[in-house]
Amino acid sequence: MDNHQITRRRLIINGIVQGVGFRPFIFKLAKGIGLSGSIYNSSDGVIIELQGTEKQHHSFDSRLKHESPPLSVITSVESEQIPDCADSDFIIIASQSNKSVSTLISPDVALCEDCRLELFDSQNRRHLYPFINCTNCGPRYTIIENIPYDRPFTSMKHFRLCPACQAEYDDPLDRRFHAQPNACPNCGPSVWLVDKKGSKLPFENPILATIKLLTEGNIVAIKGLGGFHLAVNPLDADAVKKLREVKGRDEKPFALMVRNLQIARSLVHLSEKETVALTSIQAPIVLASALSDSNIAQNVAPGNDRLGIMLPYTPLHHLLLSADLSTLVMTSANYSEEPICIDNDEAQKRLTEMVDYYLLHNRDIYLRSDDSVVMEIAGGIRPIRRSRGYAPRPILLQNKGPSVLAVGAELKNVIGLSKDDKIFLSQHIGDLENLEAFEFFQMTIQHLQRIFEIEPELVVHDLHPEYLSSKWAKDQNIPLLGVQHHHAHLVACMAEHNLDEPVIGIIMDGTGYGSDGTIWGGEFLVGEATGFTRRAHFEPMPLPGGGAAIKAPWRTGLSYLYGVFGDNLPDIPALQDHDIQPIIQLLDAKLNSPMTSSCGRLFDAVAALSGGRQEIRYEAQAAIEFMQAAQNKLGGDFSLFNSVIINNTHVISMESIIKNLVSRILAKKTQGQLSQWFHFSLVKSFSHLARLLREETGIAKIVLSGGVFQNRLLLESMIQNLEENGFQVFTHSQVPTNDGGIALGQIAIGRKFLSS
Ligand code: ZN
Ligand code: ZN
Ligand code: FE
Repeated sequence: MDNHQITRRRLIINGIVQGVGFRPFIFKLAKGIGLSGSIYNSSDGVIIELQGTEKQHHSFDSRLKHESPPLSVITSVESEQIPDCADSDFIIIASQSNKSVSTLISPDVALCEDCRLELFDSQNRRHLYPFINCTNCGPRYTIIENIPYDRPFTSMKHFRLCPACQAEYDDPLDRRFHAQPNACPNCGPSVWLVDKKGSKLPFENPILATIKLLTEGNIVAIKGLGGFHLAVNPLDADAVKKLREVKGRDEKPFALMVRNLQIARSLVHLSEKETVALTSIQAPIVLASALSDSNIAQNVAPGNDRLGIMLPYTPLHHLLLSADLSTLVMTSANYSEEPICIDNDEAQKRLTEMVDYYLLHNRDIYLRSDDSVVMEIAGGIRPIRRSRGYAPRPILLQNKGPSVLAVGAELKNVIGLSKDDKIFLSQHIGDLENLEAFEFFQMTIQHLQRIFEIEPELVVHDLHPEYLSSKWAKDQNIPLLGVQHHHAHLVACMAEHNLDEPVIGIIMDGTGYGSDGTIWGGEFLVGEATGFTRRAHFEPMPLPGGGAAIKAPWRTGLSYLYGVFGDNLPDIPALQDHDIQPIIQLLDAKLNSPMTSSCGRLFDAVAALSGGRQEIRYEAQAAIEFMQAAQNKLGGDFSLFNSVIINNTHVISMESIIKNLVSRILAKKTQGQLSQWFHFSLVKSFSHLARLLREETGIAKIVLSGGVFQNRLLLESMIQNLEENGFQVFTHSQVPTNDGGIALGQIAIGRKFLSS
């Protein structure tokens, strides 16, 4: 074919291609290459017509792939040859109708570098303006009330663009072309400072005043992008202590927002991947290894070798951190586990006992969204909480399928909705046991159904009959499917990797309702989306007092000890100061002591007996501190825990675990040595069982899921060991391994159920 022959084709592009600078990008790209044609939005997607030589077409395709605007996500490109035209220029055609384009909604995005430079440029008309944004950055998901994504359907509808902003908005070549939140000091939102009593303070520069108040030790509620933060100066131990008291948060680490990468590096060690995550447009909190010589107050992250760090992601944050303060504690403004506050009036009611001042603004937050949290484990960045910056970006599947609503679990609730080949997971909703979170749960389901125009054919819920999400699902007039908790964990990980054949799943978790009505949580499942069999698990042990034992690991430790040794209890130093008789009576009477095979509880028991945390102040604290005691090393010695086969299922003997542990405690091993031994033994024992199951089933693909795999020592050594033994290992990197990932598994199971 003649290389200079002119051809014309039509591209139909779908994905996140609206309000993200996509049309100006295509315009410049096509013109730069010398292609003629046009671009416009339609209800089928963005339509591009291109006319030019083969070389020009080729160059366009390659640059489309590599140079698309940072916020755009192309999910499909369809291309067809069409007859040539007489045009000689490339034009943008205005949208012909208001019909919603089948595009996706962008997550909220951290301030871009262009806007940051303008923010601090004294010649710029937006100099120091806390709401500067453009098509490459700014609020999206949190300000959208309805579709199409157009200013009247966002919380920017109250602000009328001034002529200068309107001109930017209308100019296809401007960075603010169709940037819905576009604003300036003349026409956009503003900030002001309010005292505890609700009186507006007459500061000309409320941001500088806020910085001063923070340096003086005050707690300030700061309205941000997805909700309010409570801020204090992290160098001021008294201020941090006060914040802990008012928030009812004893020891759980606080996240820090720091001025820039350089300051971050003075507080934590950052790997290359952690640096990329920290500086990404999602701007999550990165849990990184804390440097011991920083001047951050001890009580910011007591007893924890990690520090949660994020960079400023709104212009307001940049301004707050540009003067006297280079770091701030920035924690969600709420009481423990309630949803984050978003509304000015609501904040002043709910937070009145907690804060000294409020830095408010008048750009409403329509949908709350907490900061996301990620951590690098085994060479990959993994989400711990997938929320602001990530939601509602879809998880893409290989095949189209029916629409399903998944209501998630109870704690760390996230809901999901599917449409065609996309799964939309909500932001972090929280623990449904409190009323505000439950209301937020219902509102989020309605909202996502509306903005993505999804009518689910099926609602999938956890088997646990007492979960509020399960109860809610049963009240809907939609066909129902109950899914076992650990089956959902298994399939969530399979869905991430598009696995569609039976695998071995090692699901190590806190608690989940089992198919037999007991509490599961230390499971080897063999299965896929259509079903599973439970092939191995820990021997179930009683949890004296149920939830009370979760808060007091020594009780769980005592229960496991008593279960193995009966009345001949060995003399364990860690138990000496506890009043053990009432617990033993509870166990003898089998009162309020549910049986569990949970791996999370086993960690609690072993940690407590080893002299670790006896009572916890936040979730998984005992396990986290016990893991840290191992100092990233596996022990020199290990035990291979025995299992017995009952009904074709390997049951891992608690006697073999606890007796081996006790002999080492009595031999005066340190907590660090015990932790190294325990982690090593788990890895060896799990790997041994996996090999047995491989022999029994012929399956060599292994999925690791469940909250316990947030333990990086366990996950890293488990992956390494299994790979050395010839397994293909799959782990989470798109959704959390904890219950924040359950909805993804529920959806995949629901879609398979409908299509089979
Ligand atoms: Zn920008
Ligand atoms: Zn303006
Ligand atoms: Fe779970």
